Parts: sequence; structure tokens; C-alpha cells
Amino acid sequence: MTDDIRFVRRVRRLRTWGLGVGFLCVGMVFHENHTGPIPWLLATLHAFIWPQVAYWLAMSHQNPKFAEYINLGVDSAMGGVWVALMQFNLLPSVLLISMLAADKLNVGGWRLLLRTLPGQVIACVFAAALNGFQIRTASSPIEILACVPFLLIYPSAISLSAHGLARRVMQQNLMLREIGRTDMLTGLASRTHWSDLAYAELKTARSRGHSSVMLMLDIDHFKSINDHGGHAAGDEVLRQFANLLKQSVRGIDTAARFAGDEFVVLLPGANAEIAAHIAERIRLRTATIRSGGIECSVSVGIAMLEGWMPSAEAWVDAADQALYLAKSRGRNRVMTYDHEYQFVEPVV
Ligand code: GH3
Ligand code: MG
Repeated sequence: MTDDIRFVRRVRRLRTWGLGVGFLCVGMVFHENHTGPIPWLLATLHAFIWPQVAYWLAMSHQNPKFAEYINLGVDSAMGGVWVALMQFNLLPSVLLISMLAADKLNVGGWRLLLRTLPGQVIACVFAAALNGFQIRTASSPIEILACVPFLLIYPSAISLSAHGLARRVMQQNLMLREIGRTDMLTGLASRTHWSDLAYAELKTARSRGHSSVMLMLDIDHFKSINDHGGHAAGDEVLRQFANLLKQSVRGIDTAARFAGDEFVVLLPGANAEIAAHIAERIRLRTATIRSGGIECSVSVGIAMLEGWMPSAEAWVDAADQALYLAKSRGRNRVMTYDHEYQFVEPVV
């Protein structure tokens, strides 16, 4: 369902409720004023037929939202007519005008209210002139009583509608956040989300004094996979590699797509030995991925979180340097960055 259709339906609900309970106030004043049949007929048509007609007009228009704004202008103008025909009976008139204003504010804010106000005033003056400018402002007890359902029901309907909207916005925000946290191609954590996790892990590991390891992985000669099999074949390899990563790490670890064919894994609480074991397992399993006869391989850089590292970026940088070394030493291997700036092959 499009947003426009949702909007038209929301306004229809509000209009149906508002005019239904509003009819009670207007009708009671008409009854007390011994108003003639024509205003009665008009009020009945407006209260019970107009909501359906307005809905139909909006839905059959090529721009439903625009048509609905026009309908809302008609609502306002009709409100002015009822105030005049009720001879400005104070309580129902104020109630009608304030609820119509709340309606406009709820649907379109101040702009819509200000746009519809002139029509309301003109319609009111015109109807008052036709009615001989009769004025009876005092509200009788029965007229006050007839306003009670309007007072009780309509503000709740408007509040519920606003609450529904706020909830929808919240759900959409959550959805957007979730989309931002996930890499669309592989389903792994996105780089942004992973950066937050790496930063949080750095703080936790330091405050609790546990070790932590980062793996940086890059598929070897990935360009040639793209060149031979096309971009779709490359995408398939990325997806398969992502699945392999998920299956090769522990439940507490987080794998993410860093960029292109580069991936990262965070191993909280792991020591060098566990990290080397996991990295080697990933490297060996990568050989099971094939694309157009080409056997895939991966290079891995390992970096332990060390005391001298000022930030998560420095940690990433260390893993990246180890990866660079693995590439320059011939690829398809695992290298560890060590705190004395020496790179060591892990013991597996
Ligand atoms: P190396 O062994 O040095 O890593 O060589 P390589 O060919 O893998 O080089 P590099 O890692 O720099 O290549 C990354 C390539 O990945 C370049 C880019 O065209 C491709 N790429 C990046 N994002 C995507 C993607 O989403 N899908 C596909 N199919 N290819 C991508
Ligand atoms: Mg690569």
C-alpha cells in the first residue's frame, strides 16, 4: 500500500468518526432551534454520505493525496456552514472549529490549517447571511450533553491516529538502521556496524583485561574471477565466502564485509593460537569455493589487540599490514602482526 493510500484511509477514518459524533451536536442544536428540513438534509448527507464520497473522490484521483487535501478544505468550509446554521451556539461551535483545526494540524500542520481557514470563514459568513444572521450563543443543558460524545471520542481518534503514525515512523527508522547494519550482498555486518563493534570491543577488552583478535581477509586475485566469470560470478564467490566465514567462526565472533573482496572478523576473548587456528580453517575451506574452474584462495592478516594501540583504527591498520605482508609473500597464507613490528607465521 502506498503512503498516499494510507493517508487517504487515515483521513477517512478520522472523518467518519468526527462527522458521526459531530452530527449529534449539530443535530441537537437544530432540534432545539426548530431548524427547517433543508439544513437537516444537508447535515445528514454531510455526516454520513460525504465520508464515502470524499474517499471515492480521493481514491479515483490520479493524485489521491492532493484530492484529499481538497476534501479537507471542503470539511473546513462545511464546518463554517454548520457554525452559522447553529446560530453560533457557543459550545458546539467552538468544539466543531477546534476539532476541525486539530484535524488539519494532525494531517498537514499549520500550513494546512492556515490554507483552509479562509474557506471556513467565507463559508460561515455566506451561510450566516442566508440564515439572516441569526445568533443564539447560549447552549442549553441538552445541547451541552450532546457535545459530550464528540468531546470524548474525537480527541482520542486523533491521538490514536498520531500514535499510529509515530509508531510507523519508529518501525521504519528501525528498519533503516537494520539495513545500514547489514551488507546487502552477503548478509554479513556492514563496515559501519562492524566499526562500532570493534570500538566497543576495544573498550570492553581493556576494561575487563581480556585478549581480543582481529582478522583481515582478502580474496586472492578476485579481479580475475570477475574478469573470467563476470560480475555475477564474482558476487556469487563473495556470497559463498561470507557463508564460509559464518560457519568457520565461533558464535561470539563477528564477521563483516569491509569493502569489495575484503572481510574482517572480530574474535573477542581469543588468543593468538585460537585466532591462528580459525584463520587457517578459513584459508583451507576457501579452496572449496570454485568459480569457472578457478580455485579460490584467501590471504589473512591477524592482529592481537595490544596496549599501545590508541584506537580501533590502529588495530585495523595492524591487521591490514599483516594482510599486506601475506599478499606480498605470495598470497594464500596467514600472517600475524606482532607488537615488536615483526610479522610471524602463525603456529597452526
Ligand atoms: P589481490 O590478490 O591483490 O587481492 O588481487 P585482487 O584481484 O583480489 O585485487 P583487489 O582485492 O584489489 O580487487 C578487488 C576487486 O573486487 C576490484 C573490484 O572490481 C571488485 N569488487 C568490489 N566490489 C565488488 C562487488 O560487490 N562484486 C564484485 N563482483 N566485484 C567487486
Ligand atoms: Mg583481493
